[in-house]
Amino acid sequence: MTENVELANKAFRVILLAVEDVVGKNGTSAILRQANLAQYIDNYPPSNMEHGGHKLEYMSRINRALFDVYGRRGARAILQRSGKSRALDAIAENGVVANATKIAAKLLSRRRKVKLLLDTAAKEYSEQLGTTIRIEDDGEFFYWQDDKCGNCIDWQSEQPVCFTTVGFIHGLVAWILEDENFKVEEIACRAVGAPACRYQVKLN
Ligand SMILES: [Zn+2]
Repeated sequence: MTENVELANKAFRVILLAVEDVVGKNGTSAILRQANLAQYIDNYPPSNMEHGGHKLEYMSRINRALFDVYGRRGARAILQRSGKSRALDAIAENGVVANATKIAAKLLSRRRKVKLLLDTAAKEYSEQLGTTIRIEDDGEFFYWQDDKCGNCIDWQSEQPVCFTTVGFIHGLVAWILEDENFKVEEIACRAVGAPACRYQVKLN
């Protein structure tokens, strides 16, 4: 069902650059080979919103290759870092939207800032990642929910595996708040059998 969903060039490029940022160029080439995506070695997509045949499941294949090569703990650290660096790249790549959001948020409370940011990012990334991200606010926590999460397609695990998105949300929230006084956790994951990957943002 999700096999035909594609990532925009820009979205897949940012993912590859973020992995490279953490494991280096040779490490990335090894991961791409392991993921059966050798066609991308030294051949990243350009930074635009066109689609070049990058399937959503490629993200999951890259993540699984990282688990295979570095183990769960190693992969978790790499993916969270790569998610954070993806957030910073995304902010830089979407400079106008990002700056407008930050200016608009300036006088808001922490909660309202985070709400504005998550709503804006969910709208932007749903389009780039070919999915529908929903933001919920239960008055205590925020939830980021993705029922077509590309990080864990065709993956079965006993524990949540979508650490890239944990790092990504963490990077975004840290950017708007200018502090790290909050927690992000994946509380349900499709790889564990949940209908959607769901992340909880807990402000202190
Ligand atoms: Zn997941």
